Parts: sequence; structure tokens; C-alpha cells
Amino acid sequence: MTAPPGAEVLDATGKVVCPGFIDIHVHLREPGHEYKETVATGTRAAAAGGFTAVACMANTPPVNDNGAVTDYILAKAKVEGVVRVHPIGAVTKNLNGEELAELAELAEAGCVAFSDDGRCVMNADLYRRAMEYTLPFGVPVVSHAEDTYLSRGFTMNEGVVSTEIGLPGAPAAAEDVMVARDILLAELTGAHIHIAHLSTAGAVRLVRDGKARGVRVTAEVTPHHLVLTEEAVRGYDPNTKMAPPLRTKRDVETLVEALADGTIDCVATDHAPHALAEKEGEFDHAAFGVVGLETAVAVLLDRLVKPGLLPLPTLVSRLSRDPARLLNLPGGSLAPGAPADVTILDLERKTTVDPAKFRSKSRNTPFAGWMLTGAPWLTIVGGKAVRP
Ligand SMILES: [Zn+2]
Repeated sequence: MTAPPGAEVLDATGKVVCPGFIDIHVHLREPGHEYKETVATGTRAAAAGGFTAVACMANTPPVNDNGAVTDYILAKAKVEGVVRVHPIGAVTKNLNGEELAELAELAEAGCVAFSDDGRCVMNADLYRRAMEYTLPFGVPVVSHAEDTYLSRGFTMNEGVVSTEIGLPGAPAAAEDVMVARDILLAELTGAHIHIAHLSTAGAVRLVRDGKARGVRVTAEVTPHHLVLTEEAVRGYDPNTKMAPPLRTKRDVETLVEALADGTIDCVATDHAPHALAEKEGEFDHAAFGVVGLETAVAVLLDRLVKPGLLPLPTLVSRLSRDPARLLNLPGGSLAPGAPADVTILDLERKTTVDPAKFRSKSRNTPFAGWMLTGAPWLTIVGGKAVRP
């Protein structure tokens, strides 16, 4: 085959050419928190990490709870973004959990899902109505499953480690009871519920059971929940503080198995940039969350694929085909006619995670200093190589 005239020719001998990777759970922080991240820096971080598209959460100030905010994000993405940006609209106004957001207007403006992520919609009746209301739009409701009464005041997982090191914990049940509720509400309404950052063995069991009964439930898992346990918190590093918290070894083993067998549909990073001042100092007072776009692929290649815990083709599907399917996004395929979004991997490349080199504005990673084998080699969006 010969390249059309003027086309850039790349020698990808020995590399792995994949459909462009899609991260459906990212906090771009714009509008309002541009000191943490912007559309420009967040999408550069995405491209550097091998992602050709991201879906961004609504918990910005102002909240993406009406079409004007969605328009703003999409306009920014068009001018300053280097990968595709798909906004997710809020379920409730200002994420207050009390009154539904302008759902029809958000869908019309281009939101690909609805979520109050960062907060759990505790009112089951309101969540039921949100699911019913969004049904005609054919987009999922994305659940941050956390019973905030059970998790009140937590900084880590509740268990042996939290007791030993004296930090307040949230039990796995704080997540599990909400996953159970949301599956039951999806069953009641016929809506598609997608569980964000699923982190417990109990939630895996609930999702597996829901799927077996034909409920429209899907789930994602983050790289940090796949490779780190609560043991990492023993050093009181604020970069091990996230919601949901790092769990036990048994949870991690169950998450990896569930990702392999498809009970968990995809990987998403929950990229949550924070400024240094918000992540230093006492563990108790540090912000929740870690960045993930620039480390996800290398961490998963090194820690899951290399040791044989997850076949490479499965990881590729969970990062491309499957997230595209969940949010009805273009891409996720290399078939003729699909968008020319391509991620190329170099399985031999050795890297050391150096937060100082991140394209992201923020440095809050639990993987600093990790030596990894396998990394993204090139990211192509709409037929053009992105060199961020
Ligand atoms: Zn969340």
C-alpha cells in the first residue's frame, strides 16, 4: 500500500497499533480551577499518555449543569484542545443533590453522560427521576457510589491498616450499598447506570449479578485501584489519598479478574489534578485524588500485562472499544470509516515516572519514581500525530 501524497509516513515496526485510547473519567478543571488544569494542559497530558479522547466531569465552578457551560468547554476544546473532549453534564443543579439540572439542554449541547461525580446523589427518588428523564437521550448516568453517611470523615479504607496507623476509614460497604441501590434503580427504570471508579470485591459481585439478570449496569476501574492497596497509605503520602480509597489485596485481585472477564467494562483514570499546596501537609487535610492520564498506560502495561495478569488485547479493548461503546462515542475501532484516532504502543520502552515532566499542571501521582516497561509511543487524533 502506498501513502497518499503529502502524508507523513511513520515506521512503526515492532510497535503495537491500537484504536485510540479513550478515558471516560477525567477532571479538566476548566472552567474555574485553571490553576489545577485547563483544557489545553489536560488534553496535552492525555495525548502524552496515549489517549485520543477524554470525557470530562461536571464538578467545575461553575458546574456543567446547563448548556452554556457545555458550550464553553466544547469551544475551549476546539481551539485549545489536542484530543477530543466529551463533556459530561451534572445530574443536579450545582451538584446540590436536590434539584435536577437542565438535562435536556445538556444533552442537546453535546453531553455524553450525566454525573454528579465527586458527590453521590443520596436522594434515591431524585436519582430515579434522573434515570427516567435521561432514558430518551440514550446516555448513561454515571454513579459516584458513596454513602456519605457511612463514609463521613474518612481519609482511607476502613480495616486493619486504618486501625494500625490511626486514620479514619470508610468501609467497603459505603460503596457497596450505593452500587446495590443504583443497580436496583436501573432495573426499576430501564436506564443505563455506569459505576465510576469501582473499587471493592463486593461491588464486583453486585455488578456481575446485575449483568446476569439483564440490568443495564456497566463499570470502570482506575489504574491506581488495580495496582495499589491500602498498604500504600502507611507512609502517609497524600498522593495515596483518593475517593474511593485504596482497598485490600483481595479487592485488587478481584478487580483485576473482573476487568479480565469483562464484569468491569473499562479502565478510566479519574485524573484529578490538584495544586501542590492542596496535596502537601497533613494526610487528614489533603485533597482527594490523583492525576492519571500520563501514567495509566505504562503502569498497566508493566504491572498487569507484563506479569501475565491481563492479556494485552484485553487491555487494549478496555481502553478503546469498550469505553467508546459505553458512552456511544466515535472511535474505539480501526475499521475503515472509523475516525483516524490511533494509539501506538512500544512494549519495550523503559520509562521512569517523573512528575516534573508531566504536561499536566499538577504533579499529584502515587507512581513517582516507578520504573516501567512499555509505554505509549505515538498518539494520532483525526489522522494527525499529536506531539504534546
Ligand atoms: Zn468520583
